[in-house]
Amino acid sequence: MGEAPAPAHVDIEELLRGYDVDDLTVATVCSHTSLQIFHGARKEGYKTLGICLGPQPRFYEAFPRAAPDAFLSIERYTDLLRLEQQLRAQNVVVIPTGSIVEYLGADNFLRLRVPTFGNRKVLQWESDRARQREWLDRAGIPMPRLLPDPAQIDRPVFVKLHGAKGGRGAFIAKNSAEYYKVNPQVPHTIQEYVVGTRYYLHFFYSPLSDVGYRCSRGTLQLLGLDRRDESNVDEMYKLGAQEVLRDLGIYPSFVVTGNIPVVLRESLLPKVFAMGEAVVETALDLFGGMIGPFCLETIVTDKLEFRVFEISSRIVAGTNLYTTGSPYADYLADDLSTGRRIAQELRAAASKGKLASVLS
Ligand code: ATP
Repeated sequence: MGEAPAPAHVDIEELLRGYDVDDLTVATVCSHTSLQIFHGARKEGYKTLGICLGPQPRFYEAFPRAAPDAFLSIERYTDLLRLEQQLRAQNVVVIPTGSIVEYLGADNFLRLRVPTFGNRKVLQWESDRARQREWLDRAGIPMPRLLPDPAQIDRPVFVKLHGAKGGRGAFIAKNSAEYYKVNPQVPHTIQEYVVGTRYYLHFFYSPLSDVGYRCSRGTLQLLGLDRRDESNVDEMYKLGAQEVLRDLGIYPSFVVTGNIPVVLRESLLPKVFAMGEAVVETALDLFGGMIGPFCLETIVTDKLEFRVFEISSRIVAGTNLYTTGSPYADYLADDLSTGRRIAQELRAAASKGKLASVLS
């Protein structure tokens, strides 16, 4: 089991001292959801800064409306730690994405002395599978059942290696014999294999807004939904059954290569909001709240029941589908992406003198 990262020691009030809150610069790493974040920030009138390794990436030339105003070119991501002062001098707010946390490392991200959007404390609960399960369990979220003893496998299971990203090394076993055939010698988790349709729910929690689904404090919004295209598992069926492929040395991998838009059967929406609300309320109790975008990664069974196999507590790449709105965001406002929603939250917080309540 990986250790949860050490608690953040960044005092946000102190970091914001000297900030011109009407002249923020929205910054993120040039990857993941950067086009959407820059595009949305620009629509809300913010300056933008793209953090890149080496020369500025050329693909932004192809997308001028989503290119940052300026680039900060660094040699390695940890350079950010020595550039903190320079970033603060530009009133920078960093928008965390999966890429930043991954490239910088959770510990460095937690101690970065630059204001970041959202509550960094969430990482202590999210980045360790056991703690994440505790959080979701406390919220009453239905999850795939764990089967700790391989000898007791009585149904198809999904075996996940600890720390593996994109499901690397994960495999499906239909019984104990199949499990022992692979017999992974590294730490792993055995979960029931949930048969159903995968839906990734894009939420936004605002502690300040009163527009949306009301929580004990603030509101919850649903900005969209996607399904991920995963390589090679989503296409390997064309070569035959998985057990045949295994004998050929071909194993399923779950590397996300793209995203597909989805709308949900409308009668499932009450369950969607009940789950979103429960994780938001539990987050408020456990670590002071999960602010901004988050995603519940779910599988819906043919009994119309959700199983949540993961939570991502920041903007997810599936939101890139909806740069000018979605079938759900359209009922909240026009032209609303998650990137733009983040910028709006900054604007609203700044105008109320409450920036510290959406940053950490
Ligand atoms: P990442 O960290 O990149 O999100 P990961 O290594 O944590 O990936 P998961 O996201 O937990 O892995 O799972 C990867 C994929 O495996 C999912 O997108 C889904 O397709 C499938 N999956 C995960 N858990 C289950 C389950 N219990 N039953 C069926 N399929 C599952």
